[in-house]
Amino acid sequence: MSEDCSQSCGTCGEECADRKVDFSEQPHELSKIKKVIGVVSGKGGVGKSMVTSLMAVSMKRQGYNTAILDADITGPSIPKAFGIKEKAMPSELGLFPITSKTGVEIMSINLLLENDTDPVVWRGPIIANTVKQFWTDVIWGDVDYMFVDMPPGTGDVPLTVFQSLPVDGIIIVTSPQELVSMIVAKAVNMAKMMNIPVIGLVENMSYFECPDCDKKHYLFGESRIEEVAKQYGIDVVAKMPIDSSLAGGCDKGLIELFENNWLDPIVKTLEKSEQADALFVPEFANQDVPAQTGSRV
Ligand code: ADP
Repeated sequence: MSEDCSQSCGTCGEECADRKVDFSEQPHELSKIKKVIGVVSGKGGVGKSMVTSLMAVSMKRQGYNTAILDADITGPSIPKAFGIKEKAMPSELGLFPITSKTGVEIMSINLLLENDTDPVVWRGPIIANTVKQFWTDVIWGDVDYMFVDMPPGTGDVPLTVFQSLPVDGIIIVTSPQELVSMIVAKAVNMAKMMNIPVIGLVENMSYFECPDCDKKHYLFGESRIEEVAKQYGIDVVAKMPIDSSLAGGCDKGLIELFENNWLDPIVKTLEKSEQADALFVPEFANQDVPAQTGSRV
C-alpha cells in the first residue's frame, strides 16, 4: 500500500496489491467524478433524502461541483425538494442530468417517468440495474462530490448498489428511535463489510427548538448520538432538529434557499480531507462493532 493511501480504491488509479475487491462499473466517458458519498439509512422516512440534498447544497456553497444520484428508486424525493419539473432527455451520447437552480446536477427516476406519481413496481435486480445505468449512462461532467441517496435498509438492493458504485465514504442518517435499536449497527456493519469508511452519523429529528424561547426539547428523550457514535468509532456527528420550515421548503421545491449549519461538522470533515488529501481513513477499522450476521454476496 502506498504511503499516501487515501483508502479510496474506487477513485484511485494506482495499481496496488492492497486494492480492495472492486465490482464497480465505469462511469460514462464524459463524466469525471472525484468523490462518491453514499447517504444511507436503516429505513425510509428518517430524512436520508433531506440530508443528501442539504449536503449537496452545502458543498456547492463551498464552491465544489456537486451532483445527486437518486438511487432511492422506489421513493424518489430529490427532484421535488429541488422543485425540478422538467424531464431528463436522452441524447446520442447518453443521458444528461438536470441542473438545479444553484447548479447541482441531479438524476432521478422521477426525471424519466412520465408522471411523478407513477409507482415503480420493479424487482430488486431491475432497480439495482437502473442505478448502475445512472452511473454508467449519465453524462455527469466534472463533479467534485457526488452524493448518492441510497435505497433504504441493508438488503439486496443497497448492497448491489454499493458494489456497483465506487463509494468513497458513507453518511448514516438515523432518527432518535433508530439510535436505540440495532439499525445503526447494521448500517455500520454493512459499510465495514464493504470496506467503506463512515464519514459521519446524522441524528435527524433530534430535537425541536421552541421558536418563542429557543429552548431545545428532546421529544424522544435526551440524544444518545455521541455515545452511539463512540461505540462504533465514528468521530463526526451532526444533529438536525424537527423544523417545519425545512419540511415546507422541501415540499415547495425550495431546499436550495434553506440556510442552516446543522451539517457543518460533516461539511468541514469533507473540506478538511480535501486539504489533507487523505480522504476518509476508516475510523472504525480497528473497532469492535457489535456483531451482526451477514455476508458479502
Ligand atoms: P427518507 O429519504 O429517509 O425516506 P425524507 O428525507 O424523504 O426521508 O424525509 C421524509 C419526510 O420527512 C419528508 O417529508 C421531509 O420533508 C420530512 N423531514 C425530514 N427531515 C425533517 C426535519 N428535520 N424536519 C422536518 N421535516 C423533516
